[in-house]
Amino acid sequence: MVDMPKEKRKTQQQALIRGLFQHSERPLSAQELLHIATTIQPGIGMATVYRGIKALMEENFITQVEIPGTTPRYERTAVRHHHHFLCKKCDKVFTVGGCAGHLGKLIPPGFVMDSHKIVLEGSCVSCTPGH
Ligand SMILES: [Zn+2]
Ligand SMILES: [Zn+2]
Repeated sequence: MVDMPKEKRKTQQQALIRGLFQHSERPLSAQELLHIATTIQPGIGMATVYRGIKALMEENFITQVEIPGTTPRYERTAVRHHHHFLCKKCDKVFTVGGCAGHLGKLIPPGFVMDSHKIVLEGSCVSCTPGH
């Protein structure tokens, strides 16, 4: 590891970050990425994580999940329309398939809606008593 050329190491660390997104079923924050990355490759730094995020965003492999008032999370760029669930106890974000739909009937006459953002909130299965 120590003698590996810098460029090669960079590529390898990038691949590691990419792999984390490939295997995660929920959006991850930089902090979470660092935490998981460290268990695979000790010594990996936050700068590397941010570099990886930036590069993957540039190639549109990942997209930022925007949930107002929370740390930015990132997920694999999705083909399908979906929403997110924020657990207010453990602060994790989960991907929710499907959509309530039929939101057009909520808007005033004459308005045109072209997109919507919905964040479901509550507690995830691990944070719900009895589980
Ligand atoms: Zn939770
Ligand atoms: Zn929707």
